[in-house]
Amino acid sequence: MFTKAGVIVEKEVTTLENKQEQKEIPSIYSLRIEELEAWLKGNDEPKFRANQIFEWLYSKRISTFEEMTNVSKGLQEKLANAFTLTTLKTIVKQESKDGTIKFLFELHDGYSIETVLMRHDYGNSVCVTTQVGCRIGCTFCASTLGGLKRNLEAGEIVAQVVNVQKALDEKGERVSHVVIMGIGEPFDNYDNMLSFLKIINHDKALNIGARHITVSTSGIIPKIYAFADEQLQINFALSLHAPNTELRSKLMPINRAYKLPDLMEAIRYYIKKTGRRVSFEYGLFGGENDSVMHAEELAALIKGIKCHVNLIPVNYVPERNYVRTPKDQIFEFERTLKKHGINVTIRREHGSDIDAACGQLRAKERKEETK
Ligand code: SAH
Repeated sequence: MFTKAGVIVEKEVTTLENKQEQKEIPSIYSLRIEELEAWLKGNDEPKFRANQIFEWLYSKRISTFEEMTNVSKGLQEKLANAFTLTTLKTIVKQESKDGTIKFLFELHDGYSIETVLMRHDYGNSVCVTTQVGCRIGCTFCASTLGGLKRNLEAGEIVAQVVNVQKALDEKGERVSHVVIMGIGEPFDNYDNMLSFLKIINHDKALNIGARHITVSTSGIIPKIYAFADEQLQINFALSLHAPNTELRSKLMPINRAYKLPDLMEAIRYYIKKTGRRVSFEYGLFGGENDSVMHAEELAALIKGIKCHVNLIPVNYVPERNYVRTPKDQIFEFERTLKKHGINVTIRREHGSDIDAACGQLRAKERKEETK
């Protein structure tokens, strides 16, 4: 552990090559309670043990199977042979002056992912990663540098929240909110993401309320329809970033496959099906999409849609060329939207003294993964 500009950094160096050979054993955190019940049944164990096991995993937050003292030694052994418990290793933990904590976790195969804890007046929010890298290729984003390495298992996403909760246990605090806005495109790892949601939401697990969970997508249209049909009460955010399809294609190549007019159609379906409002994330990229004219065009695009707009001043990424919009212009953009009766906020920055923007810590620490 060493200190760097007021930031605590825990660090251990491992090489990627010797890790990727390791045998893959599923994480017990990947199992929904019904799946654990089915596994128990298949192993001649009573179904009610699932509740007990969930309690050990998610309430008592144990780190070895032997700690499950009301579970027989035989079952402890069966569990230990079939599953792993600790799948994430903390290699960097940076704490910002504003309380934001950024974790770099190493996976069993040596890849690394980021997770961020943010402190709000309404609670503690964890931003989770769903993929090692990303294949969407947004031109402003650090997470996509180096492309997609692999999807995360549900348990690797769940374990991020459990590990952050363990860090908060020391302070007597609780994770109250989860945002799926870390590295990766959640709808490109749809089934595992859905299992993750169902697990953290379950009252025998972390019991995080659906309305306290937000998922954000770059706009994979078929999955927006599928997600709408799930009829969950989860908050839904779309990374919009442009008011017309030409500009959106320039900023986000995914728009060439899933075009803006079709995307807006899918969003309307989502709102109709769930009755929930959506959030539009709109990054302000200096000189690209941040003029009053763009704001007017955006207002016209989303007119009549039950929504909220979140303006994100660009996070500087060294490998990318985007610059910040001047403050006055950000406020002017906001005013223009408000004039049209649109709900709008400007995203507050968290952890600006650490590498808190998505993908930045991993890009810096693990250059070989993001080349
Ligand atoms: N892949 C999902 C989840 C990422 S959420 C998605 O695209 O929605 C992270 C949010 O930050 C997204 O809206 C993303 O477009 C935005 N973002 C990425 N890089 C950024 C940058 N350099 N500056 C500002 N916002 C950025």
